[in-house]
Amino acid sequence: MAGEARSDCLFCKIVAGEVPATVVRETETTLAFRDINPQAPTHVLVIPKVHHPDAASLAAAEPQIAADVLREAQEVATEEKAESYRIVFNTGTGAGQTVFHAHAHVLGGRGLQWPPG
Ligand code: C5P
Repeated sequence: MAGEARSDCLFCKIVAGEVPATVVRETETTLAFRDINPQAPTHVLVIPKVHHPDAASLAAAEPQIAADVLREAQEVATEEKAESYRIVFNTGTGAGQTVFHAHAHVLGGRGLQWPPG
């Protein structure tokens, strides 16, 4: 069951071309674009084109598209020549999620500390 596009969702607007973004990859089901406020030399967001509020609800409703997002995250890292990288799904406000449309952050190009803050 596909998630309906939301008129109040920033990332649905990016998918619709109503809000600009620097797109680096696109597939039938996903869009990858540079984060407007990069936290690393490579900081790309990979989103499903359909609306789901977070990664877990995407995976529960449409596992194939969740897999597409992960595969595209790896493709981004390869294209960016990021030898090591991190794929992050902030889930919930307490974890720093600010946009409630599922998205993977692909971070690379610098050393990354563990545990994250
Ligand atoms: O995980 P979180 O929900 O905080 O991530 C949302 C991300 O979307 C932020 O890193 C923010 O910089 C990014 N963003 C963007 N383009 C916008 C608005 C937000 O890349 N127009």
